[in-house]
Amino acid sequence: MKNVYQSITNYISETIRTIPDFPKEGIQFKDITTLLQDKRALELTSYMLAQPFRNKEIDYVVGLESRGFLFGTNLAQDLNAGFVPVRKPGKLPSKTLSEVYALEYGEDHVEIHADAIFKNAKVIIHDDLMATGGTASAATKLIKRLGGEVVGYSFIIELSFLNGRNQLAQNVPIESIIVE
Ligand code: AMP
Repeated sequence: MKNVYQSITNYISETIRTIPDFPKEGIQFKDITTLLQDKRALELTSYMLAQPFRNKEIDYVVGLESRGFLFGTNLAQDLNAGFVPVRKPGKLPSKTLSEVYALEYGEDHVEIHADAIFKNAKVIIHDDLMATGGTASAATKLIKRLGGEVVGYSFIIELSFLNGRNQLAQNVPIESIIVE
């Protein structure tokens, strides 16, 4: 089974292209539009994202704007959970909570609806890629402020040289399909 997972991972990995110096010099941008175009990679990525969390009684998948929305709703459906968006400022129409975060390139805020999750809900945070871990860490704070429990993190790609893991809730599984 390990070999099967390895070949699935290799297949997915080959569909992602790296664009040098985008959006600014020095950033190796991981472009997943080429993964999305490939129907086999699309299906395999959904399968691999759900695999670690099946039968874990997850209440919500929280997807991070914007590429965390691409697989986030599908992941929620696969886990029999609801989907909650964490968005950039000014996008959510109802009452929100806000947290500052640092990106690999820049700084911004993220917001969640104040009534998005119920108390003690079990939550998975999902994004396409973890770089510094700043965005996922800010989302963790938002969920904790709402009384939820982050029980897992889910990424397609993790840039391990940026040590994003250190920013996230300790003793919580971090499931990345591809670790670079
Ligand atoms: P971070 O908060 O540093 O973990 O950054 C994560 C967010 O920035 C994710 O939403 C990614 O989509 C985006 N991001 C950061 N670095 C890259 C990169 N090298 N390639 C693609 N997306 C990136």
